[in-house]
Amino acid sequence: MTQATAEGVKTPEENPFEIARRQLLAANAYLGLDDATLAVLMEPLRELHVTLPVRMDDGSTKVFKGFRVQYNDARGPTKGGIRFHPEETIDTVRALAAWMTWKTAVVDIPLGGGKGGVICDPKSMSTGELERLSRQVGRILGLEKDVPAPDVYTNPQIMAWMTDEISWHRGYNAPGTFTGKPLAWGGSQGRGDATARGGVICIREALTALGITGHLRYAIQGFGNAGQFAATLFREMLGCDHVLVAASDSRGAIHCPDGLDPAALIAHKEATGSVVGFAGAEAIDPAAVLEVEADVLIPAALEGALRADNADRVRARVVCELANGPTTPEADAILRQKGVFVIPDFLANAGGVTVSYFEQVQNGTQYYWDLEEVHEKLDHKMTAAFREVRRTAIRHEVDMRTAAYVVAVRRVADAMKVRGWV
Ligand code: NAD
Repeated sequence: MTQATAEGVKTPEENPFEIARRQLLAANAYLGLDDATLAVLMEPLRELHVTLPVRMDDGSTKVFKGFRVQYNDARGPTKGGIRFHPEETIDTVRALAAWMTWKTAVVDIPLGGGKGGVICDPKSMSTGELERLSRQVGRILGLEKDVPAPDVYTNPQIMAWMTDEISWHRGYNAPGTFTGKPLAWGGSQGRGDATARGGVICIREALTALGITGHLRYAIQGFGNAGQFAATLFREMLGCDHVLVAASDSRGAIHCPDGLDPAALIAHKEATGSVVGFAGAEAIDPAAVLEVEADVLIPAALEGALRADNADRVRARVVCELANGPTTPEADAILRQKGVFVIPDFLANAGGVTVSYFEQVQNGTQYYWDLEEVHEKLDHKMTAAFREVRRTAIRHEVDMRTAAYVVAVRRVADAMKVRGWV
């Protein structure tokens, strides 16, 4: 594997931004965008590269690099998480910012797409150092034109520090400048499990569309935040007789054809740090979780999980991509040929940004909804998005990913047109 660097050098076939661009070009066969519109959509509109000096606990000053990509704001302020990661790359951030643009468009919320990253190792930093770094980031972001949220190694507490910093600078409370804040200050009910809930709503719609009924087995790669909620919500929302047959995390994978109890597995992971060693389950190779006998496969870990070398061994009938970019274009073609129904990432995991948008709406109106209202509005948005994409897939006789691009990119292109950009 090619080494990723701060400048984002990866081989083209692994480079997530190249993948995002290839997907857009493939969808353009059905969109027929004019050259200028396509040229704008193939690149980020703006990128900010920053140098952030931070006072460390030992009195020294450490300098961090960061970037914020505002991919496209034709439909509204750009929206997307900020990641803290030692191996962050500009091309990963560009790809994620592009997918955010299509994500907000496919669920039809009035926002654009952006993403940010700071190259740092949060695990080796004290809480004080993390707070000082977060406040530095807060100073340069959080304008109404670009609303960040938590992502890899950032959390509600970090959002609270950034929002507090902005509020101090402005001299008034500015909760709408960041989302994913704690419930104690400006957060929304239902944000915690929103990504997984949105994904399970898509699975529900897919099962209905495909006429799949009865007892189902599902497998989850990546038993983290999104994966754990999905494990529980699958049974809660779709039927308690469905069984989780396999799960994995960065330390290993387990399998049990009779079913793993999601709540007990979450407790085991909390206690031990991994799914490995869960009573009654057999340890399997981590790669095998993608290949077990299951009806629904949920990749919820990293990019590039399903590739040309393993896609043929997927046995699931439905793949729900909770992770961003888990399937390479080569794997996509193989899954399509096998007749696997793939719910593409920027549709499947759009529940999180949808509830982030609800949070902004509540911050703006200073009126907060109860959990039931959030769930109802999320279901409405996700169901409408899934059905529109499915209708488009049938109309053009294409897969769901291409159809999702057609729906989302058309909306962004239309906004650019009426605004007189192209
Ligand atoms: P997380 O860090 O909480 O969980 C990721 C899990 O994947 C961890 O349990 C980790 O151990 C596991 N993992 C890492 N490498 C693995 C490997 N090689 N094999 C198996 N498991 C592995 O992150 P998360 O918030 O749950 O996000 C997971 C994915 O979902 C990411 O792609 C993220 O971009 C996407 N996503 C998350 C949200 C959200 O709201 N959490 C929203 C949109 C998209």
